[in-house]
Amino acid sequence: MRLARRPFLIAAAASTVASAARPARAADPEVLVIGAGVAGLAAARTLMAARVNVQVIEARDRIGGRVVTDATTFGFPVDFGAQWLDAARTNPAVAILRELNLRPIADRDRQALYVGGREAPPEEYARYEKIAGEASQKLGEALKKAPDVAVGRVLVPQDLLERLAYAMVGPLESGVELDTLSARDFFRQPEPNPEITVAEGLGTAVARWGAKVPVTLGSRVVRIDSTGPQVLVVTTTGQFMARTAIVTVPTGVLATGQFGFAPQLSPARREAIAQLPMAAYNKIVVSFGQRVLDAPANRAVLGMTRREQVFDAVVRPQNRDAAMVFVGGTVARQIEEEGGGAAASFALSALAEIYGDKIRSQVVRSHATRWIRDPFARGAWSMATPGNVDKRTVLAQPHHDRVFFAGEATDLVGGGRVGGAFASGVRAAQEAMAVLGVKRPGGGPPAGPAPRR
Ligand SMILES: Cc1cc2nc3c(=O)[nH]c(=O)nc-3n(C[C@H](O)[C@H](O)[C@H](O)COP(=O)(O)OP(=O)(O)OC[C@H]3O[C@@H](n4cnc5c(N)ncnc54)[C@H](O)[C@@H]3O)c2cc1C
Repeated sequence: MRLARRPFLIAAAASTVASAARPARAADPEVLVIGAGVAGLAAARTLMAARVNVQVIEARDRIGGRVVTDATTFGFPVDFGAQWLDAARTNPAVAILRELNLRPIADRDRQALYVGGREAPPEEYARYEKIAGEASQKLGEALKKAPDVAVGRVLVPQDLLERLAYAMVGPLESGVELDTLSARDFFRQPEPNPEITVAEGLGTAVARWGAKVPVTLGSRVVRIDSTGPQVLVVTTTGQFMARTAIVTVPTGVLATGQFGFAPQLSPARREAIAQLPMAAYNKIVVSFGQRVLDAPANRAVLGMTRREQVFDAVVRPQNRDAAMVFVGGTVARQIEEEGGGAAASFALSALAEIYGDKIRSQVVRSHATRWIRDPFARGAWSMATPGNVDKRTVLAQPHHDRVFFAGEATDLVGGGRVGGAFASGVRAAQEAMAVLGVKRPGGGPPAGPAPRR
């Protein structure tokens, strides 16, 4: 049960916007991969291992997508996107760290609970545990009675501590509020512990792991036309042709309609995109000139401000005079919408309630992510609306036989997460290889027909 994890085991880390020299263009590609996030890179690497010519096309000027480390702003690596690989015993993306020989670190301590700036007394910790356990049971029971239900119909908080506990199901875990969160989509995910990260930052690791993949950067795809003998991919910097293509862009990008397909996407796929909207989740990082935060290194905090807004945080990450504050759901949307200094102001107020107003005069710098505004993400990750978990499977189906879909949103187990992105990339690469008649690496049988799930 995800609720149970944070009080006992938390992990966090840091990293950089790393970009390494890489081959920009493959000769005569057989597969075009749209997007150089984890899904696109995993697809490309799977194809490269099978000696298939692949070309990745990426709109940003870097690879990694929603996994990105900033190593310069704060003097230590900070992941602005994904930071932890959860369910590490089964998470396929752990292969990235293994390949790079990176040792996982523990970067979040036991979580402290704060309401209105006051730490919860011991009995409230015990009650929090009880609420979390019962919430899990209630959701499990509800899913025995119905195929799916909005979490908010089952978990109705009666007091502030329940609101705090349920926030670890909704906004702070899933990036959506309880009334729009599918209990089935939440429960589909494996138990998150153990969660791991690396000192260099997950984004740094992904950038290194993907460095040998041929990627054309700064090239935004606007249209994919598979009506001719070859798939034609039209971008803002030119055109590409290949026998097949793999699309890995987030559902938030697909939903804008700025990404055209010929033939058009089926109504079922368009509905799937609509029912897998992007969640809201942002990080606000603040650094201080002195040790003004009276907390041990890697202190994890789950808090509710005096204005009853929930957040969680890692205070003094890696023993630095800094804090990373995380917001999700409505709070994240409101802060991002407001813009300007709203994010820093929220984080400072939340921290000042706990550590005192003296912290305000010691701020050195701050930065807030804005993933909803990001034109190449449009949000943090996909979450199915209630009753629509199966839409992940619909989205994963090939389009017009030669255009395959990957990306976190298409994975039934790891949807929303890095592990799901990785698995989906490998799956789509195998589907493309089946069409190309390519054998899997290692001389095994051809990949077989694309699974129709
Ligand atoms: C703040 C935050 C925290 C997170 N924390 C975690 C975490 O701790 N653990 C975890 O497992 N997951 C976490 N996630 C989710 C995780 O980052 C994603 O699920 C995963 O990285 C998605 O990978 P992807 O390859 O499917 O998509 P992306 O990484 O989004 O890759 C898609 C690529 O397509 C590119 N693109 C978009 N449009 C176009 C276009 N028109 N033409 C060409 N290219 C285009 C994008 O620039 C991008 O590089 C977090 C996400 C956020 C935002």
